[in-house]
Amino acid sequence: MTATVSLPTIPDPGTTPPVVQPTVFDLSPDILGDWLKARGHPAMRARQIRRWVHTGRATTFAEMSDLPAGLRTELTESFSVFRMSIERHLIATDDTHKLLLKTHDGHFIECVLIQEDDRHTACISTQVGCGMGCVFCASGLNGVERNLTVGELLEQLVRLRNLTPTDRRLTHIVVMGMGEPLANLENLLEALAIAGEKNGLGIGARHVTISTVGLPAKIRKLAEHGKQYHLAVSLHAPNDVLRNEIVPTNEKTGMHEILAAADYFFETTGRQVTYEYVVLGQLNDQPQHAKQLVGLLRGRKAHVNLIPWNDVTGLPFHRPDDSDLTGFIETLRHSGISVKVRKRKGSDIDAACGQLRRAVTNDK
Ligand code: SF4
Repeated sequence: MTATVSLPTIPDPGTTPPVVQPTVFDLSPDILGDWLKARGHPAMRARQIRRWVHTGRATTFAEMSDLPAGLRTELTESFSVFRMSIERHLIATDDTHKLLLKTHDGHFIECVLIQEDDRHTACISTQVGCGMGCVFCASGLNGVERNLTVGELLEQLVRLRNLTPTDRRLTHIVVMGMGEPLANLENLLEALAIAGEKNGLGIGARHVTISTVGLPAKIRKLAEHGKQYHLAVSLHAPNDVLRNEIVPTNEKTGMHEILAAADYFFETTGRQVTYEYVVLGQLNDQPQHAKQLVGLLRGRKAHVNLIPWNDVTGLPFHRPDDSDLTGFIETLRHSGISVKVRKRKGSDIDAACGQLRRAVTNDK
């Protein structure tokens, strides 16, 4: 999609060759405990091992200095700490980090660390590719290959956490990378539950945002899950005709069903829903679009995040004119709708979804 920016590739001390052994992130505490017991080790060692990877930043079993040497050897022979290798590591001038990870079966996925003051946010992928086909997105160009496993979801979080200063930790998760998160909901919920553990990464549900183009049944399931996750619906258009063009899966669902499910999410969890809107110059940013959006969201407890498009070589979309964007924002604000323009982070390293993966796979 775009050429890879020639920033230095940083060697990562945690990089390991691709292996097919299970990782500690693939093992539940019970399974790891049983494995230990079967070899004559106390099950409580499982807690120590998990602590080393979740909070101790260990990238090999050899570093786990309070484990007996024999156990460290046995662990190394049976498992690995990480399963993906770091293919690229880019750092932007605003200290946004982007990792291109290669899975054990040869796929590439992206994840991003966004840093602002005390806030360290991990943006993770949930699938290899994406089946939603949003017309402006590089991730969906070749469809979806497979869901990421619980271990692969957690590994992205831990690898990004390991890039924060040692006296810091991840504070937020946004599930907005490659893939449709709700199409991999079971694995995602399991990984987020582990990420939320106090003795682990300790990222509570209220600090997690799950994004979706809108799978109504899955939105309802997420609402009933009983956790205070924040839901972001990627709307991108104020009517079905335009949305069918921009988000092709809308033809099957329609906006009415999606908004009804989002309302249910709000009624069930009490959490305000955010509507994401990529602003494409002349396409969805005109006064009539703003008025239609007001008509859709009026009376709903909603917040709108506007994401002005930045020109990308090869794609027929344009950055919105400043005057159009300002007019759009004013129309929403005058109608009492909460709206923000999302700051663009990491723009010098192609931090937008799927662009680096596309550049690398096109190189090969
Ligand atoms: S924007 Fe998100 S949902 Fe749409 S194709 Fe890209 S990854 Fe999939």
